[in-house]
Amino acid sequence: MLIDFHTHTTASDGALTPAQLLSRAADRGVEVLALTDHDTLSGWQVAQSLQRDGITIVCGVELSCQWGGATIHVVGLNVNANSKALVDMLDHLQRIRRDRAVKIAAKLEQLGAQGALDGAQALAGEAAICRPHFAHWLVSEGYMPTVSRAFDKWLGNGKPGDIKTPWPSLADSVAVIVAAGGVPVLAHPLKYRFSRTKLRALCDAFSIAGGAAIEIVNGRQSDSEIVELRRLAKEKKLSVSLGSDFHREWAHGADLGVDVSVAGDVSGVWETIL
Ligand code: AMP
Ligand code: MN
Ligand code: MN
Ligand code: MN
Repeated sequence: MLIDFHTHTTASDGALTPAQLLSRAADRGVEVLALTDHDTLSGWQVAQSLQRDGITIVCGVELSCQWGGATIHVVGLNVNANSKALVDMLDHLQRIRRDRAVKIAAKLEQLGAQGALDGAQALAGEAAICRPHFAHWLVSEGYMPTVSRAFDKWLGNGKPGDIKTPWPSLADSVAVIVAAGGVPVLAHPLKYRFSRTKLRALCDAFSIAGGAAIEIVNGRQSDSEIVELRRLAKEKKLSVSLGSDFHREWAHGADLGVDVSVAGDVSGVWETIL
């Protein structure tokens, strides 16, 4: 069975509309699809109104938060979109994103890229601005040759556009997902580039806060990373989740759909959700 519990649409920094994402998932034979846009449910709201045969749509979100001096992403699966705690958190996150975008744009303008805020907002459309909107705008205007160079030079960790942002705490974000009846999943544990010790401390903090699972597949990764993460899940008594983190069709990225057999003998979040 192919599932995908981590995907993005034009409601955040993805390139496909919710309808296009659903079509692509259907074409690829994905049976269960969670929409997990950054800090918003608006993509899921559109998708669930479309109702495609053969696909179960899961209401999800990828919350930006912080722990240990780093920005962490927690995916909430099967959340109740009407939960007041969640709706309030998302409003708060949208405000943080707006404030942050103004500050990032000011930095980019200091670096010579005039019109960054309007440019990024035009690419984001109705969505709140995410850093990839700035990156794509910088490429379209010729300031940067590629999106990945834009991150390496200006937008990535420790670069001028990496604005200190008052994201909520990991514990508060997990609590909001639990309050919304959802399953909290620690997204892409290896992407934080933590030491083994710090990664284990993150898993412990996540568990204590009410976290349920870690992603052992996030996009394209090596078999050895999957083995390492499966072992980590077992050690920390957490379930596992699987997702492509699909943003757009891209030669270096993963396409939609992961086979549940990748979980091996560890329990998967789909067992509680379906
Ligand atoms: P934001 O949540 O607005 O800070 O944007 C984070 C998003 O930027 C991630 O979800 C990725 O989609 C994208 N991203 C982060 N780092 C890179 C990178 N080095 N190259 C390309 N995209 C990146
Ligand atoms: Mn993203
Ligand atoms: Mn993420
Ligand atoms: Mn993501």
